[in-house]
Amino acid sequence: MARYTGAVCRLCRREGSKLYLKGDRCYTDKCAVSRRAYAPGQHGQNKKRLSGYGVQLREKQKVRRIYGVLESQFRSYFEEAERQRGVTGENLLRILELRLDNVVFRMGFGNSRAEARQLVRHGHFAVNGKKVDIPSYQVKVNDLITVREGSKASDKLKQLAEDSAAKTAPQWLSVNAEMMEARVLTLPAREDIDIPIEEHLIVELYSR
Ligand code: SF4
Repeated sequence: MARYTGAVCRLCRREGSKLYLKGDRCYTDKCAVSRRAYAPGQHGQNKKRLSGYGVQLREKQKVRRIYGVLESQFRSYFEEAERQRGVTGENLLRILELRLDNVVFRMGFGNSRAEARQLVRHGHFAVNGKKVDIPSYQVKVNDLITVREGSKASDKLKQLAEDSAAKTAPQWLSVNAEMMEARVLTLPAREDIDIPIEEHLIVELYSR
């Protein structure tokens, strides 16, 4: 599937906020948003006042970029969120959180969602004992996500498991770093999703 392959820091600069796409670097003073707090490109330093539509559009782009999802897939997630009961914006975020690449990231395997996505693509993970190498795979409550037996001996995966042990997983996920596995305990609630966005703006954008 096509995906954005340019410099990811430009995406943060475009949105004017840190999207934490590069793992550890994002927490250092090398972060491009800290060093150049204006949009990329020739006119990046020109002050622009956003319209209501512009604000909504930027919020949607932010979420799309945080989760690394293309427009068409994001739109279909939104349609699914609308079909579900409850608050559409929260449903949308929940669907994004339950992508396998995000769950692997939340397990602490990978410094960024992009790295977690690559681990999934390379076939290092299984869901309920079956290999799954589709980053967009939707996990469900009670699913067990494990590093596959053949990957457990790899130095990289061992290091990632050590890193995982030092990280804090969200409440909806029970992580056993030593066993290199995690179980989905419940659906993530809005307060479990620590991304600083206003999802109602996305609902308003698509309702135009
Ligand atoms: Fe964004 Fe991280 Fe790059 Fe900073 S270092 S601009 S937060 S991706």
